[in-house]
Amino acid sequence: MTISTTRPTHNLSAAELETLDRRHLIHPHQRSQRTFRRVMVRGERSTVWDATGRELLDLLGGGIWVAQVGHGRRELAEAASRQMSELAHYTGFFEFANDKTVLLADRLASLAPDDFNRVFFTCGGSEGVDTAIKVARLFHHHRGQPDRNWILARHYGYHGATYGSGTATGIPDMQHAVGPNLPHIEKLMPPYPYRKEFYGGQDPTDFLLAELEQTITRIGPENIAAMIGEPILGGGGVVIPPEDYWPRVRQLLSTHGILLIADEVITAFGRTGAWFDSAPRGMRPDIMVTAKGITSGYVPLGAVLLREEIASVLTDGEGSFFHGYTYSGHPVGCAVGLANLDLMEQEGLLSQSLAIGDWFRAGLAPASSLPAVGDIRVAGATVGIELVTDQETREPLSPDLALAVADELYDTHGVITRNYAHVLVLSPPLVLTEQETDRATSAIVDVLGRLDAKAGKINPR
Ligand code: PLP
Repeated sequence: MTISTTRPTHNLSAAELETLDRRHLIHPHQRSQRTFRRVMVRGERSTVWDATGRELLDLLGGGIWVAQVGHGRRELAEAASRQMSELAHYTGFFEFANDKTVLLADRLASLAPDDFNRVFFTCGGSEGVDTAIKVARLFHHHRGQPDRNWILARHYGYHGATYGSGTATGIPDMQHAVGPNLPHIEKLMPPYPYRKEFYGGQDPTDFLLAELEQTITRIGPENIAAMIGEPILGGGGVVIPPEDYWPRVRQLLSTHGILLIADEVITAFGRTGAWFDSAPRGMRPDIMVTAKGITSGYVPLGAVLLREEIASVLTDGEGSFFHGYTYSGHPVGCAVGLANLDLMEQEGLLSQSLAIGDWFRAGLAPASSLPAVGDIRVAGATVGIELVTDQETREPLSPDLALAVADELYDTHGVITRNYAHVLVLSPPLVLTEQETDRATSAIVDVLGRLDAKAGKINPR
């Protein structure tokens, strides 16, 4: 097929787009076995359309936990357009700034817990996590403890794909064959109540606190800068910790002068029903990393929020902070971020997120007795359905079969979901309606009802 790529605006067919994609594009997390493509071209609220014109219900919020206010919101497009006409970019380096960056920093400080007064902008989550690691190490360095450079992280945690954030990520594929990775990162077990076998019959929090204490003793508290964790594990399968986990972890870390970094890249901005999920979980972090929902994914932006006490060590007196990205605090990103937060407030999307969670709980209830469904976890508009071959043994379903479930939902019902290993994940826009949730849950109950985990197949309708 000869395809002209010189047209000013394209009117390529779906097949032509797929061909060009295969020829030129490398996808994040590309798997060579997946030779077909799903090319999206338009979105409105919770619906997207692919290049063939097929209408799909987007239960993944732009495919990757963003799209809080839904697709196609004119208000955000106008905010971007206005800002591009006024001032597309001016750096935030040195003593420069632009008005929207200042306003968004102020707005974030007003939404965050009291002492989170300072904001450093990035273009996304991985840069934010790298920033947080540097900040933690620098903080101790400036206070005369340069050996405090170890970072505690957790298996199953997802923190990004750069060398810093990628090494902190507790998913081994991220570190495979690209080493040496960042040194001085130690992984702990995650809180995962459904996987009680991880804790040898002990209470999960007791087990994890003992492990944390032993690890601190082994490495030496005087060598540890910080611990990083997601309030609830996102990419690890929407895993919600026991209520006492974060308060007890926080307390132990404080005893040893170790900072706590909350990776809120998924959880902030209403995804679980709060502006910052670490607050209701009693995490009381020193640093919060955010991205994704800050602009509902309309433009790349991330923000690292620091407690005043941490930031002042870096920026006041003799402190210095030699770190930054060309697009830190990009005016268009910040203008869209402000408009996005306005919409979220005007439309009450935090409480809407909780309502969506309730609808999912009710709609998915019939699935809980299905043989392949081990656990259904809901945190606001965020759902993880843990699939197993057997409810008794809790043996995880093969990731390939979990992917087949997502494919069946897509192909048969036009519903977009994704498996993270053996967990089916949902993170819809926070404007999902009750009717759309019903459609989604009926589709999921149908497909899971036809899943024969033991035979390794999905029966036809
Ligand atoms: N942290 C968490 C919890 C994430 O889920 C992600 C991405 O999904 C990241 C960090 C990395 O963010 P980004 O992909 O924007 O670099």
